[in-house]
Amino acid sequence: MPKDIIIAIDGHSGFGKSSTAKSVAHALNYTYIDSGAMYRAVTLYLIRQQLDVSDIEAVKAALDQITISFTIKDGVGPPLYETYVNGENVEREIRGMAISDKVSEVSAIPQVRKAMVSQQRNMSANKRVVMDGRDIGTNVFPNAELKVFMTADLHERAYRRQKELKERGVSTALSDIVENLAERDQFDSTRRENPLVKAEDAVEIDTTNLKFNEQVAQVVALAQKAMQTS
Ligand code: C5P
Repeated sequence: MPKDIIIAIDGHSGFGKSSTAKSVAHALNYTYIDSGAMYRAVTLYLIRQQLDVSDIEAVKAALDQITISFTIKDGVGPPLYETYVNGENVEREIRGMAISDKVSEVSAIPQVRKAMVSQQRNMSANKRVVMDGRDIGTNVFPNAELKVFMTADLHERAYRRQKELKERGVSTALSDIVENLAERDQFDSTRRENPLVKAEDAVEIDTTNLKFNEQVAQVVALAQKAMQTS
């Protein structure tokens, strides 16, 4: 009998890590949770409130006002996941550059991280979850049965992100994406609170030369092994 497990997928920004995680969840009939979308949703809320993010008391008060949820729509292929803040569909808005430019700063605020991590753990109480982010294997689920650390060459990542944005109807210059990804990598990897680092027991997958289906297949195979051996 395969065991129910938690699959933590961490890695740098922008190369289809979330799409991979979604497809893995779909293949295994697991729930997918996009932790990055949660930090993006908080960022959107704070921007809309025109809140000074260095005012920690105001940030704390705002966190109490934010309810983040996801909907899943089944169709052909992997289900479509959409992010909601206080009942409003913000999926498209949270993917734009205005949020990408600010999200690393917001996600470095300890109170923001504490609130999100607590929600992420609550959402995964029954296991059977694939969660992707930056600190899932190191901080949110240090005991996850499978930890994967995915990466790819910066330019390849920028190219893939551009394609993904285009599919969503957003056209962005490649140079702007390279700059944003490099900045976020640097910020996320060097912040004090839960920086992006590979967990010691994570399996590293460099996806630069892998096709999307190959990425998914590798993680699914690792998951099936972990379900037998954990
Ligand atoms: O995954 P995505 O690129 O949407 O994440 C957006 C940002 O949210 C990251 O650049 C990072 O600053 C933050 N993040 C985080 N911890 C996570 C997931 C995302 O700090 N677990």
